[in-house]
Amino acid sequence: MSNQEAISGNGSGSQMSNSGMIITQAKGPLPEGVHLPLYMDNHATTPLDPRVLDAMMPYFTNKFGNAASRNHAFGWEAEEAVENARAQIGKLINCTPKEIIFTSGATESNNLAIKGIAEMYREKGNHIITQVTEHKAVLDTCKKLEKMGYRVTYLPVQADGLIDMDDLKRAIVKDGPDKTILVTIMYANNEIGVVQPIREIGKICHEAGVLFHTDAVQAVGKIPVDVQADNIDVLSLSAHKIYGPKGVGALYVRRRNPRVQITEQINGGGHERGMRSGTLNVPGIVGLGKACEIAGAEMATEAERERELRDYLRHKLESNLDYVQVNGNMEHHLPGNLNMSFVYVEGESLLMGINDIAVSSGSACTSATLEPSYVLKALGLGDEIAHSSIRFGLGRFNTKAEVDYVADKIIEVVQKLRELSPLYEMVKEGIDLSKIEWAAH
Ligand SMILES: *Cc1c(COP(=O)(O)O)cnc(C)c1O
Repeated sequence: MSNQEAISGNGSGSQMSNSGMIITQAKGPLPEGVHLPLYMDNHATTPLDPRVLDAMMPYFTNKFGNAASRNHAFGWEAEEAVENARAQIGKLINCTPKEIIFTSGATESNNLAIKGIAEMYREKGNHIITQVTEHKAVLDTCKKLEKMGYRVTYLPVQADGLIDMDDLKRAIVKDGPDKTILVTIMYANNEIGVVQPIREIGKICHEAGVLFHTDAVQAVGKIPVDVQADNIDVLSLSAHKIYGPKGVGALYVRRRNPRVQITEQINGGGHERGMRSGTLNVPGIVGLGKACEIAGAEMATEAERERELRDYLRHKLESNLDYVQVNGNMEHHLPGNLNMSFVYVEGESLLMGINDIAVSSGSACTSATLEPSYVLKALGLGDEIAHSSIRFGLGRFNTKAEVDYVADKIIEVVQKLRELSPLYEMVKEGIDLSKIEWAAH
């Protein structure tokens, strides 16, 4: 099944893009199995797997009970479904069902983990360690804690996006009021796809007696994640990044060796062992459970398939275009991620030229201005090259035909834009751009 069929099942023809712009299709018929707009942005979100929707449907209709209703069959039915989901998640990450706390998504999970630990362990210490390429849900939470008087260390990343274990060891404070209470490092990065040495980080934390939280949103269901072997104490995950519904996530909280305590951030009713009050989103939770079950069963073959497609895309782009570079360590990498810079091409023009393809650029829209991605900048990329970067996010429903279409389109547009680029012309003529004195403007 193609992406488009998974989303809407419709055919071709002119379609509205999400900005309301009419997307005109390429001249001539589209290749077999390719429908526009084409989705290749699976780190932002993923389409709902039809099997997940099937599992959820009854809980929107006749199985509508409140999982906290302990005295009748409607409640028991909902509770059973929720407990089943806990077990499905536990099986995927190797924890017990009791260690799963349901939330509204990974943003909430990250907030609950970091603020909840900071509050609970305040008497023990005041220091938290994270790193600069974390998702905003972690970075903004840490900034908030700094305002509240906590001390936060933001570790740098190396040029390949990985943190240095010696930096981490040096940053851990063993005694005093500024003793480190928490290390929070993401499992895999959502922009550049690099996978941090989580097992080693967890080991360092445990040897130092420091709790270890990881934002594993991009890793869970894509690569093997094992909270025991990886020495993880607290872990955030989200359903809509693994072909489940939006608005539901979970937090794994270790119950032994050590038993982690977290101060609740939402009060009222004491659901989820007192850590997260609120009536459970039963259909969403059922969807998250099913998404985990499918991801676990298909991970090995799907990862291999996506890795092959990704490498094929990379090879095709690299062999048809000069001045391209791949960002992030490609050895420790998510199978479906490719982040590439197309030097001497303006990122916005490139995205406009491929506006029937959904990918992400190396620019982030903060208020009115277009800022280069802080993740790419952390790797040492300049503003220009960050702006000329594209994140390809391959997923379960992407096909080889789609990869070919995307590659051909990118090659065509990059070549066209470079024909118009005086910089590119000069480089081709052998002029050293660094020696040119530009007129001030
Ligand atoms: C998407 C994402 C989040 C946020 O998850 P939500 O469920 O959308 O709140 C957090 N961290 C990473 C790495 C993500 O990719």
